[in-house]
Amino acid sequence: MHEKCGVFGVYSPTEDVARLTFFALFALQHRGQESAGIATSDGTKLQLYAKMGLVSQVFDENTLSQLTGHFAIGHNRYSTTGSSRVCNAQPFIIGDDADVLAIAHNGNIVNSENLYQELQAKGYDFTSTTDTEIIGRLIISSPEKSWVDRIRYAMRRLQGAYSLTILTKDAVYGVRDPLGVRPLCLGTVDHGYVIASESCAVDHIGANFVREIEPGEIVAIDKDGIKSYKEHAVRKALCIFEYIYFARPDSVINGKLLYSTRLAMGAELAKEYPVDADMVMGVPDSATVAGIGYAHQSGILYGEGLLKNRYVGRTFIEPDQRIRDLGVRLKFNPLPQLLDGKRLVVVDDSIVRGTTTPKVIRMLRRAGVKEVHLRICAPPIISPCFFGVDMATRWELIAAQKTVPQIKNFIGADSLGYLSLDGLIRAVGQPRENFCTACFTGEYPVPVQLQMDKLALETRAKKAVSLTTERR
Ligand code: SF4
Repeated sequence: MHEKCGVFGVYSPTEDVARLTFFALFALQHRGQESAGIATSDGTKLQLYAKMGLVSQVFDENTLSQLTGHFAIGHNRYSTTGSSRVCNAQPFIIGDDADVLAIAHNGNIVNSENLYQELQAKGYDFTSTTDTEIIGRLIISSPEKSWVDRIRYAMRRLQGAYSLTILTKDAVYGVRDPLGVRPLCLGTVDHGYVIASESCAVDHIGANFVREIEPGEIVAIDKDGIKSYKEHAVRKALCIFEYIYFARPDSVINGKLLYSTRLAMGAELAKEYPVDADMVMGVPDSATVAGIGYAHQSGILYGEGLLKNRYVGRTFIEPDQRIRDLGVRLKFNPLPQLLDGKRLVVVDDSIVRGTTTPKVIRMLRRAGVKEVHLRICAPPIISPCFFGVDMATRWELIAAQKTVPQIKNFIGADSLGYLSLDGLIRAVGQPRENFCTACFTGEYPVPVQLQMDKLALETRAKKAVSLTTERR
C-alpha cells in the first residue's frame, strides 16, 4: 500500500523559496518517492524543474539556484492515476504566458474520466495522464475572472480527494476538498506563509504551524497577506489511514499528534487481543509506535527484533522481478540473538494483499521465534481506495477473500487479531462520522466508479509521451 503525494507551497520575500521547498519535500518524502518537482514565480513568469526520483536525486545546487522568485510550490509523487513517468511528474504548468498556473495535487478525482472527455471535447490537449492536469485545465477553462472564483468553479465540478497547492505569477493558493480526505496545513515563515501536506514539513523548515486548512477551504497568499474563502462542506471524511500508516508520527492532524494516536492504537489492540508472550515488537517503521503502545498496556517487554534498512527506496526495488522477490530481505534484517526461543507479539499497521506478511513471519521463525502473535492496527481491509491510495483491487485484498482464521493460517501466524473499528475510533479520539473508513466498511463518502482503473487516462492521452527525463 502506498500513499499518494506530498504537496507544499510558500510565499516569502526574504527567503530562498526554492531551497525551502526542497527541504519541505525532503520532510514529505514518505508520501511519494517516484518523482519530485518545484515550480517558482518571480512575479512575471513561472519556472519549473521536475524529474523522476527522490528529492535528493532530482535537485542539486545548480537546479535550485535557477528556480528564482518569492513564490513556490513543490510535489512528491506516488502514482494513483497515470503511470510512473516523467510526463506525470508534478507540478504541472498549465496555460500560456498571459494566463498560467502551476499545480500540485495529493488525492484522487473519482469523476476524472467524465471531466477528461468534457475538456477534450472543448479542445483542451493533455500532456499527462493524471487527474491533476484535469484539475488545472478545469481552472484555466473557467469563465470566471478571479483566480479564487476560477478555483471555486473547478471545485463545484470535482468529486473526490484533493489537497492542492497552486501557483500563479503573483500568488500561492492552498485548496482542500470539501470532504477533507487528505490533510493540508498552514504555517508562517519569515514575512510569509507556507502550506504543507503535513505539519512535520512545517517544523523541519523552521516555520511555525498555525492551523489546518479546513475541508472546502481556499487559502490565498500574496504580498498583501492571506485570505481565506470557505466552500460548503457537506460532511468531513478525513482518511483514517493517515493516522494508521501514511502520515509521519511527528505530524499533527485534526489537532492530534499521530505519535499519541498510534500509542493508543497499540493499547487498544492489547485490550482487545491479550496474549501470553515474552516480547512485543512493531514492524518498523510504521508500526513501531503502536508496538510500544501494546507493550505499555500489556506490561510485556518491548524489543526491536527487526532492523529496517531505511535507505532502500522503492525506485531501486521495483523495476526488476528478481530484486523485487528479495523485497522483504532487502528491507529488514532480523536479530536472532534477541528473537531466539521467544513468544513474540508482532504489531503491524495493516495486511493488504497478504504477500509480505508471510515472508516477515517466515523470516522471524528462521531467526528462532517460537510463537508469532500478529496484531494489526486496523480492521480487515475489504474494499479498495479511490481517494489517493494505491491499494489493490477488491479481488487482490486478502480480507475480501478470506476469513480471519483463514488469513491466520495463510500467513503462518499462531494467532491473529485485527483492531476493531470501534477500537480504532477510540484511539483516534474523534467522532466516527469525521472520517472515511471505506476500505474497512465499503461505505464510500461519495459515489465511486467501482471499476475505476489507475491507468484509465493512459490510453486516451495520445500526447502524453515524453522521451525526456526531466521537465523544465
Ligand atoms: S478508502 Fe481507506 S485508504 Fe482510502 S481514503 Fe478511505 S480510509 Fe483512506
